[in-house]
This record gives sequence, C-alpha cells and structure tokens, in this order.
Amino acid sequence: MIYNEDFETLPREVLETLQLKRLKQVVERVYHTVGFYRRAFDQAGVQPDDITSLADLRKFPFTTKQDLRDNYPFGMFAVPMSSVVRLHASSGTTGRATVVGYTKRDIDTWSELMARCLVAAGLTKNDIIHNAYGYGLFTGGLGVHYGAEKLGASVIPISGGNTKRQIMILQDFGPTAICCTPSYALNLAEQGKEMGVDMKTLKLRTGIFGAEPWSEKMRVEIENTMGLTALNIYGLSEIMGPGVAMECTEERHGMHIFEDHFLVEVINPQTGEILPPGEEGELVFTTITKEAFPLIRYRTRDISRLLPAPCRCGRTHARMDRITGRSDDMLIIRGVNVFPSQIEAVLVGCEGVEPHYQIIVDRVGNLDTLEIQVEVSEKLFANADEVKVLQNTERRIIKDIKDYLGISAKVKLVEPKSLQRFEGKASRVQDRRQI
Ligand code: AMP
Ligand code: ZN
Repeated sequence: MIYNEDFETLPREVLETLQLKRLKQVVERVYHTVGFYRRAFDQAGVQPDDITSLADLRKFPFTTKQDLRDNYPFGMFAVPMSSVVRLHASSGTTGRATVVGYTKRDIDTWSELMARCLVAAGLTKNDIIHNAYGYGLFTGGLGVHYGAEKLGASVIPISGGNTKRQIMILQDFGPTAICCTPSYALNLAEQGKEMGVDMKTLKLRTGIFGAEPWSEKMRVEIENTMGLTALNIYGLSEIMGPGVAMECTEERHGMHIFEDHFLVEVINPQTGEILPPGEEGELVFTTITKEAFPLIRYRTRDISRLLPAPCRCGRTHARMDRITGRSDDMLIIRGVNVFPSQIEAVLVGCEGVEPHYQIIVDRVGNLDTLEIQVEVSEKLFANADEVKVLQNTERRIIKDIKDYLGISAKVKLVEPKSLQRFEGKASRVQDRRQI
C-alpha cells in the first residue's frame, strides 16, 4: 500500500523537474529571509540564480550543527514568529540543543510524510498505534501522533516511561502497532517477561523503531521476543523529525527518502567531496518544501549509503541503508576507528549475553582502553557456578571483537538487569578520556 501514490511513484525525470523547481524557490527564499544564508552564499560567491540544474546545488556551502548553534534559538527561521505554530528541540546530547520551528503548512507536510511511513509499514486506519516515543520538545512523540491521526488510525499517546503501565495498556487496549526506540522495545519486552506476560500473545503485529542506531541482529532479537515485524524509520529534528525516510514492508531493506521534499547527497566526511551512489559516507539533506526552518545542504553526521536500485514496492524514491554510526560518535581507540554499532553487532550475535551493554573508553598513561560491560542471560547466570562457562563466554566475545574490529577489549560480564535501562534514546558510551 502507498499513501500518496502520485508523489511516491513519480518517474525519475518528473520527480527531478519538481525537485529543481522547489530547490530554486527555497534557495531564493532563504537568501532573502535568513541573514545566515545571505552571508554564507555571498562569501562562497554563489547566488540563487546559479541553480539551473540539480547538480548546481554542489556549488553551495554546507550548513553545520555549529551554524545552527551560532544562530540559537531562532536565527535560522525564514518566516516571522507569527507564522510559527510549533517549536521543537533536538536532544542536544552534544552541546546546546537545536531549536526548530514549523508553520501550519510544515506541520501538514510532516503529518503527511509520517502517514506515508505508517502506510509503508502496512498500517491502515483500522490500526491502534501505541506511541511510546517521548512527547514534548523531542520530535518523536508528536511527529508520529500527527501522522497516525492523519491516517485515521487510533493513537495511544502513551509517551515514554512508566513501563509497567505500558504493559497493562498493551494487554488491555490491544494495540496492533508500536512506535518507540529499539532500546525501549527491548526494555518493554523485559518488563513484560518480568510481569509474566508473553509479548508474543499480544495483538502487536508491527513495530516502527528508530531515533537511534540499531543493527539487523537487533531487529531479529526484537522480532523474536515481541512477535512482530520490526521496521526502521529515520529522521532528525533539523530536517523535520521522524518521517524523513522509512522502510517498506515489501523489501524491508533500506528506507525510502521522501525525495519530493528532501534532496539527499552522500559526502566524504573528511573532504566534503560528493561520493558516487552506493558509497558509504555522511548524509547531507536539503529541505525543498519547508517554510519555517529550511536547510540547505545540512551535514547530518549520520553515516550511511544510498541504495539506488528500484524497489519492488513501486516507490521510486531512493532508499538509504541503515545508519552505521555518526561521524561524531566514532571512537578512535588506539588509532582504530570504531563505531558503537559495530560492537553492538558482535554482542547481539553472541550466545549467553543480552543486548544490554555499556562501552567505557578510558586512557591509562598513553594507552586507550576499551571495556565492554554486557549482561549475561538469566540462563547462563543460573549456571554461573560453572566459572568456566562465564570465562568461555568472555573469551569468545574478546575474540570476536578482535576478529571483527581489530582491537583488544576488556569484557566484563555483569548480572542480568544490572545495567541502566532507557526510555528514549539509549546512551551506551562513556568516553572518560581527558585529552
Ligand atoms: P533527534 O533530532 O534528536 O531526533 O535525533 C536525530 C538523530 O537520531 C539522527 O541524526 C540519527 O543520528 C539518529 N537516528 C534517527 N533515526 C535513526 C535510525 N533509524 N537509525 C539510526 N539512527 C537514527
Ligand atoms: Zn520499497
């Protein structure tokens, strides 16, 4: 099923004509309404008229998170405050939060794109959606909420937290779909088990998970414990919120980027050079329909690649692969580049341990150290008087980390349920190095 057949299946040439028209309009508009863009374009020696084809976009300068911070809170808005009907802010795990604004039309667009996502996941107005993304300044909760209402589905605006109560609602209200972070899905499954609820007997058929990196193995884990089909959704506040890209049920491989609203480029994060289709690099987005907070060539720091092959579902919009990490969460440990997601991929595939872990990086003398704390399964813990079993598990993980990532790690197996649990985005890395 496709929510907006007209726009989601546009033939490439028609799509590109539409993109060019919209791009010209947005570049013209920001040049005249946002001081930052006027200065940035003038400095780079480019004018709105320089856009005569989509390829001309590359002549324009990038916009970075730092630019948004420098213009905190409303300096990047392209409309007067009287036209802004909503404000959100990004989680701001690194530094000052980024504030984003929406006009009435921006909210309508966002709702439609979220509705497209829900339909791509196979949902209809007959579904009941348990929305456990946080409501508030974070875009997740309200973004999904408006999309679900637009579709006409029934939304349970449960937000994050109060996990025991969530299990009761899941049992009593019988939602058919759930939206939350993948780490919260695991958290819920664990709470359910503790309360003696078999998650597989619930009515949930579909899970739409995103807002943080997760792996293919994590997908299998969640599907098996919750008895549902898990799909990946991508978005970021700066570009809109959830609903920038979404997997389809037909292929479940790569997320369709709504290219009638966003242009995407993939660049080498070190040099800024545009990479050929299919190569992995940093995603750069340009919004071509947003009114309040348009962004030109925004560097997301998210690492992925485009999958340009046509998709079975009929959508013509390009797909992006799973995010493998962020160029700024990449850890450099003893000179080796390591993404937390790579460590997760090793752990999730490992028998006897649970996908609850912490990564601690430190520096002793001049040497970086990496410690991975991971919870053992209840089953293994019950047999733990067999010290050998634990030792073997530990050794196996150390070996796998070495084999896959090329670095030595200290692995510490910890008791079930002893590490922190998360309600929204998980935060699993502690970098204690003072450099
Ligand atoms: P925020 O603006 O606070 O919603 O955070 C957006 C960031 O969350 C993105 O830039 C990504 O780093 C991350 N993110 C969102 N969705 C996904 C996803 N499906 N997979 C991996 N990371 C994601
Ligand atoms: Zn598809």
